[in-house]
Amino acid sequence: MTALQDIKNAVRSRSIHVCYVNVGSCNGCDIEILACLAPRYDIEQYGIYVHNNPREADILLVTGGFSPQWEDKLKAVWDKIPEPKAAIAIGNCPISGCVFNREGTYLDPPVRKHIPIAAEVPGCPPRPTEILEAVLSLAPVVFKDYERREE
Ligand code: SF4
Repeated sequence: MTALQDIKNAVRSRSIHVCYVNVGSCNGCDIEILACLAPRYDIEQYGIYVHNNPREADILLVTGGFSPQWEDKLKAVWDKIPEPKAAIAIGNCPISGCVFNREGTYLDPPVRKHIPIAAEVPGCPPRPTEILEAVLSLAPVVFKDYERREE
């Protein structure tokens, strides 16, 4: 890898664009994601930018236990994200269905059955610091050797 590629990868790993999608949550996890944007956690100080355009995203955050109406839609969102990319399951719902995974409910967890999930953040809901940690932990994974992989 050349020095220029090293620099590019280092810069990319400090400019992470995140979008998120709710595939059937109670909104508890979404509130914690929004808390990351507030001054207390100030996610942008780590070079993480949240916006809901998958075409500009590097990392997708998924909340909710996955209602089957999302089958095609979540894949469509995932396909719109350019490589390199990764998805993180936020909260117990996308991991196991949490309190909603019971007889008679219309859910199909875990989300990793539907798109590749690189990291899971358990909790009901998880703390903003845990969400931040998961996003930052994936930056080197997403951007490592990206130039080399493209060759
Ligand atoms: S994990 Fe808990 S807080 Fe998050 S969406 Fe599920 S029920 Fe709500």
